[in-house]
Amino acid sequence: MTDTILLVFAFAAGSCIGSFLNVCVARWPAELSVVSPRSRCPKCGHAIAWYENVPLLSWLALRARCRGCKAPISIVYPAVELLVALGWIAAVWYFGFSFTALRVAVFGTVLLGIMLTDALHYIIPDGFTAFGLGWALLAAALSLFVGETLPFAGLYDAVIGACVGAGAIAIVGWLGEMAFKKEAMGFGDVTLMAMVGAHLGPSRTLLTIFLGALVGAVTFLVIVLPVGALRSRRRGVPFEPPLVPFGVFLAPAAMLALLWGQSLIDWYLHGVMGL
Ligand SMILES: [Zn+2]
Repeated sequence: MTDTILLVFAFAAGSCIGSFLNVCVARWPAELSVVSPRSRCPKCGHAIAWYENVPLLSWLALRARCRGCKAPISIVYPAVELLVALGWIAAVWYFGFSFTALRVAVFGTVLLGIMLTDALHYIIPDGFTAFGLGWALLAAALSLFVGETLPFAGLYDAVIGACVGAGAIAIVGWLGEMAFKKEAMGFGDVTLMAMVGAHLGPSRTLLTIFLGALVGAVTFLVIVLPVGALRSRRRGVPFEPPLVPFGVFLAPAAMLALLWGQSLIDWYLHGVMGL
């Protein structure tokens, strides 16, 4: 019974955080404040009242339309709210109602925000990465008192991890720039990997970059490049390879590395290398 109440609480909290994440994703790439002004309909300017802004429920009650002008409201908003709510439930399910569950949930939420802004605008806002870095270091310090650290890095590894993450991705970007003769990576990727490094510590941060680069390169070579080349041939225009939003691949890789990275590293070192 109490477990059910805790899961319902996690779902409710997650959907509210997801609702705020929507605001961050919509406003930060345009360099707008997430605090004020109140949300308005982008079509008619109708100010959205609190009862039209209840996560998930309002979208259903309004039948996905603005109350002022009946313009459709994108399904992305409730989808993000639902995804974050399910993520927060999953965190409490696996880690119990604990400090660790909160850290996993917050880390996942920030990573989702970064995936969305990078996919939509090729931007990784400082709001996400600066908050994530500060939160990671604060939580690592607090974990000394709470007594829960794993699967996150301890305070010392968190500081080293932030430096290793930022440094390693900068080197990868520099090498990419020399190889492809154009800018391969933005500074947002550097701040992203500093934030990830502070959560994971050095070894799993390097694993994140490896996994992200691998999946990103395969996706690019197998899907983006052939489809893009085919399209431009059909239209008869010269083919210009698109930018790769690297954060879209690094963010999920970071979550994988948090949950299963250590097993993967152990398996590789002991099972494959025989160390
Ligand atoms: Zn409207």
